[in-house]
Amino acid sequence: MINIQENILLSQFTSFRIGGPARFYVEVSSVDELKEALLYAKEKNIKFFILGGGTNLLMSDNGFQGIVIRMKINTICTNGNIMEVGCGVPLIKAINVSATEELSGMESLAGIPGTVGGAIRGNAGAFGSEICACVEKVSALDSETMEVVSFDAKECDFSYRTSVFKQKEKFIVLSATFALTAGNDKEIQQKVSDTINKRVSTGLHGVRSAGSFFMNPFVESKDILDNFEKDNGSPSRNGKVPAGWIIDQAELRGKKIGGAAVSQAHANYIVNDSGDASAEDVIILESYIKQQVRDKFGVQLESEVNHVGF
Ligand SMILES: Cc1cc2nc3c(=O)[nH]c(=O)nc-3n(C[C@H](O)[C@H](O)[C@H](O)COP(=O)(O)OP(=O)(O)OC[C@H]3O[C@@H](n4cnc5c(N)ncnc54)[C@H](O)[C@@H]3O)c2cc1C
Repeated sequence: MINIQENILLSQFTSFRIGGPARFYVEVSSVDELKEALLYAKEKNIKFFILGGGTNLLMSDNGFQGIVIRMKINTICTNGNIMEVGCGVPLIKAINVSATEELSGMESLAGIPGTVGGAIRGNAGAFGSEICACVEKVSALDSETMEVVSFDAKECDFSYRTSVFKQKEKFIVLSATFALTAGNDKEIQQKVSDTINKRVSTGLHGVRSAGSFFMNPFVESKDILDNFEKDNGSPSRNGKVPAGWIIDQAELRGKKIGGAAVSQAHANYIVNDSGDASAEDVIILESYIKQQVRDKFGVQLESEVNHVGF
């Protein structure tokens, strides 16, 4: 039996610490509970929103007028080199379990906040690796037919920060199965700590934000690409430049609107600097950044952060 609560403040569940109340809120820890919550939404004719760790979200100040379903399917099981992880498991927990089980492959993802479900949907990645590299299959619930569907890695249609689960929102990730390789637990743990230390040294760990705000844009202008190469000593990857670099070129580092600011540590991070930024502050700053970058360089930035309740 699920426990549906009313008027629950969503800011407490987001890394931005921004967001108004959910009209209805429920935590589900099994497929049956998820189905029950979806049926509730259907009966009441209201929208549902699937919440993972809340680390890639900008929630509206008005909150969400339907039901927010927080995924707490927290199972982990290993069998040889295979590890199956429930969508609600924090990614770092899955990585720590893989280290204990002497399974290598996920170390460079250490320190990406959020759950396995959120990471699969957005094909989370860092330091040149993406989660898709070790995915064998994903199990998802089709919220329209209520059937559980299995996707092999190819069917997941992963590419830069996207997957079939982002393109077709009716699919709710239930679990992911990772194919890993046998390794040495101390070496794996060392790689995990090195990765986390590298992230901590950026000064962005634990700040009130939703991670990189914009996707790295494609750039056609040869001048911009040449400038990037001159600045970095290496050419751009596949015609893309880091969003943070181009925002920096537009001299927006530190730009503030209300309580929201472009981070001094990384220009692709919008931070809730004061702790009391509103979603509206962030939206105005986001539009300003887009407009400035478009006007100065003819490049259209696209948001990586998911906007909810707008
Ligand atoms: C400080 C910081 C650093 C970050 N660094 C990185 C980084 O290096 N690389 C990177 O890729 N990301 C990074 N991020 C962004 C974020 O951590 C990832 O996008 C993460 O994978 C989101 O997972 P989540 O569980 O928090 O998802 P949420 O924020 O809860 O949700 C994000 C989206 O996924 C959907 N979703 C969540 N769970 C499921 C599910 N089970 N089934 C279907 N849809 C679901 C939600 O509906 C929503 O649309 C960072 C964020 C922060 C705050």
